[in-house]
Amino acid sequence: MKKNKYAFSRQTVAYYFDAPFSYLKELVDPAHSVIVTDRNIYDLHKKKFSGWKTIVLPPGEAFKTQATVDSVIGQLIEMNVDRKSFLVGVGGGVVTDITGYAASVYMRGIRFGFAPTSLLAMVDASIGGKNGVDVGLYKNLVGAINQPDFLLFDPSLLKTLPEDEWVNGFAEIVKHACIKDARLFKELERHNVRAYSKNKEALSELIRRNAIIKTKVVLVDEFESGERKLLNFGHTWGHAIENKYGLAHGQAVALGMVVACRLSEKLCGFSQTGRVIGLLEQYGLPTAGDFDKKATFDALKMDKKKVKTSMNYVLLSDIGKSLTKSIPMDELEKLIDSL
Ligand code: ADP
Ligand code: ZN
Repeated sequence: MKKNKYAFSRQTVAYYFDAPFSYLKELVDPAHSVIVTDRNIYDLHKKKFSGWKTIVLPPGEAFKTQATVDSVIGQLIEMNVDRKSFLVGVGGGVVTDITGYAASVYMRGIRFGFAPTSLLAMVDASIGGKNGVDVGLYKNLVGAINQPDFLLFDPSLLKTLPEDEWVNGFAEIVKHACIKDARLFKELERHNVRAYSKNKEALSELIRRNAIIKTKVVLVDEFESGERKLLNFGHTWGHAIENKYGLAHGQAVALGMVVACRLSEKLCGFSQTGRVIGLLEQYGLPTAGDFDKKATFDALKMDKKKVKTSMNYVLLSDIGKSLTKSIPMDELEKLIDSL
């Protein structure tokens, strides 16, 4: 087990890498804690929850809603959870988002921690303190920025993770390599999903490296005024097609990264689009599809990152080197049309 500590503006977060799930009882007292998880994880890992008070949510993004948070709050009241109690989110990004948000508002805020169980949550969603729920089509419209007390990473939980969810997580890993880490990009080129899922040490190191990349970006800019925007690489176009075509998040982000690479060729002299496409394909992610550009552009105009008449787009000047560029909407529409 490796322990790191990171000091965010209002909270220091302890990271326990390569830790067994059972270590949780050293971090919080089961008598004064409640675990929040989802039905899939609970059923697959039942034994791990014995001795813990547990709230089990219906799985999936469709339940990342205020109604689910209200039901969590109702159960906390029934369990007599007080201000000194601790909430632990054990699950994918949906569970950690709901847990962090519920903990932020219950009794005006109680302490919480996470044990992420999906690759995506380990390298991305559980990190950075953004917690919230979707409202209709608007993703993460309501929520809070609050850091957990700890993050417990147990890579062995991934043994039960479905293949599609591994691929989803790798989209964010490729993103991290593209924006910040050329060496990671090269390492990824030498591996594939199976190579990591079969190699404990490599997997554990991959999770640690990516969790740290995200953490360092967030530390520079916790409340997203600059640096943190880089994490949106592939997400502008990605979010637009994710909603419109009902794609998995990772698939949408992969397609969004390809569009961002092509824009980078035109605007920043980027010349490595072929390598990015090759890597995405190596990890089972889509790189092309039949999308209505005009309709997608209309959805993109509604993106919450839009600033007046232009959009901050994350681009690459090289593998591992990213920047944001403000592109006027009419110019962006022409550029995308010409891709
Ligand atoms: P995210 O991709 O943001 O982590 P979810 O929280 O919806 O989103 O998790 C994705 C799916 O993977 C859900 O159906 C969840 O129940 C399932 N899941 C998460 N972790 C595991 C695991 N370790 N084993 C099996 N299924 C898991
Ligand atoms: Zn993402």
